[in-house]
Amino acid sequence: MAIEVSEVDVVDIASELESASAQTVLREVVDRFSPGVAVSCSFGGPSGLVIVDQLARMNLLERVEVYYLDTGLLFSATHEVREEMERRYGFEAIAYRPQLSLMQQASLHGNDLWDRDPDKCCGIRKVAPNVEALDGKSAWITGVRRDQSVGRAETPVLAWNARFGLVKVSPLRDWSEEKVWEYVRQHQVPYNVLHEDGYPSLGCNTVCTVRPESGESLRAGRWRGHDKTECGLHDSP
Ligand code: SF4
Repeated sequence: MAIEVSEVDVVDIASELESASAQTVLREVVDRFSPGVAVSCSFGGPSGLVIVDQLARMNLLERVEVYYLDTGLLFSATHEVREEMERRYGFEAIAYRPQLSLMQQASLHGNDLWDRDPDKCCGIRKVAPNVEALDGKSAWITGVRRDQSVGRAETPVLAWNARFGLVKVSPLRDWSEEKVWEYVRQHQVPYNVLHEDGYPSLGCNTVCTVRPESGESLRAGRWRGHDKTECGLHDSP
């Protein structure tokens, strides 16, 4: 049974944790909101992997649910790093999948929906499964960071998320890309090999993930050619 939490409770906790380290934020959130703490990890970017490593080092991994959205279009390297993480830290990530298979989606909405209407495609393959993943949860820990894009620049450490009806937590909100990779190297955290092939941000293995040009933002290779910067999960704090 998840802890009941309201928007009012969250304001005080957010103020307390405003300047806290990622590890302190994780410990406080697990202590205050478990059971009912979900950790979304795409196994695409390094931030979620750092969070899993930190939870494991504090013996908190067994008190949370680590989950991922299996769109049916993930890179094989993404599945490989998930399996490596599961073996190394001794947990099983829970997969949430769309109601529609890729064939059913093509039959109902046409081929390559991601190319024509990526909002609809993300709605089916990411947002709806995420609603299912967070149903009944109190807190949602994410790897969102302020340096990832202009739209994420104001990310708070913790805030009430009206869309999913819970506390959304971003313990690495003030970490830089360099700091994340320094942590990965120092603690030998497994990571997605596609980062070494020019992809700083990984989503689905379609036109939705391409290599950004030199000097572009970390997420510039996502949904290239569309006026879209988020899959619909992180549109609000
Ligand atoms: S990232 Fe692209 S392929 Fe994946 S769910 Fe969104 S629109 Fe569809």
